[in-house]
Amino acid sequence: MKSDSPFNAQAKRQNFLREALEERRLPSLLVTNLTNIAYLTGFRGSAGVALFNPREGVLWVDPRYSLQAQQEAWGVEVIEERKGLHKAVGAWLKSNKVRQVGYEEVHLTCAEFSRLREGAGGRVKFLPVTGLVEQLRAVKDEEEVARIRGAGRITVEVFEKVLGSVKPGVAESELVAEIEYQMRKKGAEGAAFETIVASGARAALPHARVSRKLLRENELVIFDLGAILGTYAADMSRTVYVGQPPRRVRSLYNAVVEAQEKAVKAALPGVRAGDVDAVARRSLAGRGLARLFTHSTGHGVGLQIHEMPRLGRGEKDRLQSGHVVTVEPGVYLQGWGGIRVEDTILVAPDGPEVLTPAPKDKWIVE
Ligand code: ZN
Ligand code: ZN
Repeated sequence: MKSDSPFNAQAKRQNFLREALEERRLPSLLVTNLTNIAYLTGFRGSAGVALFNPREGVLWVDPRYSLQAQQEAWGVEVIEERKGLHKAVGAWLKSNKVRQVGYEEVHLTCAEFSRLREGAGGRVKFLPVTGLVEQLRAVKDEEEVARIRGAGRITVEVFEKVLGSVKPGVAESELVAEIEYQMRKKGAEGAAFETIVASGARAALPHARVSRKLLRENELVIFDLGAILGTYAADMSRTVYVGQPPRRVRSLYNAVVEAQEKAVKAALPGVRAGDVDAVARRSLAGRGLARLFTHSTGHGVGLQIHEMPRLGRGEKDRLQSGHVVTVEPGVYLQGWGGIRVEDTILVAPDGPEVLTPAPKDKWIVE
């Protein structure tokens, strides 16, 4: 088997999973989150349940996905089930005399859980598990990093291109359309999340939805965008000013960039995630702006746009080489606007690599 074959990645991931199960003394784990299933097996259908124990892997799918699962999934026996996956999984546990099984408690509905238990007939003990596969996913291998780097490169190119269309009279929605068109044109599978272009007072909403509002002279505009490439996402924000920014705006902008760059530098292996957040917060506090920074500093990025680890206040988890996270401090003032600067970075022993290296000094558009 070639070393760069995707199957090799899945083999490695399933090994890591089995080690993690052993560490937690879990005999087996039901995986019901579809992103986790895709990560572990390569199967990318929209329905399925997987089970892993020390000896085997099983993937239940419905008839729509039998063929696709046979083609995509690695390291699992594919079972086609016509009448409800969860009940069938429960029945399988019963007939295989499984006594204990972990399940992903945040990725199962109450209805699914009761069908699972019904199928198992009361003999199986279900043990709630949280974040186990997500922790494996947080540490990216070289191939995953290469994809995120590619997604980041497209994101930067698109932003720089679209910057040329930023002027008074252009609608936010036009800019969003242009961004998403350019992403696909440059080979991305699409946008990793709903692209944000928020201008003027609307930039005070960290997660503003795009509107048809027209850009005006003397306004801040927040761009938050990210492409998907090879199923992996990137995430970047830049803020620009249309016109000549007054002194107050310049100093706010510089304060955010400074906080962001300090926090990026602090993101080293072994550092607690919460300490990176504290660096950004302290930097803004030094300028009397702590109160205007209303969200956490960052989040993991990968197959999903928000994943582990979280760079929030007091987060105890330590960063590791191979973590890919965002660093995105911002300041927001109701009725006035906001400024956010965000990069996706790779945590590495020699210091972080910025995967979305768009310039931050070209922020004045006239
Ligand atoms: Zn973002
Ligand atoms: Zn983000």
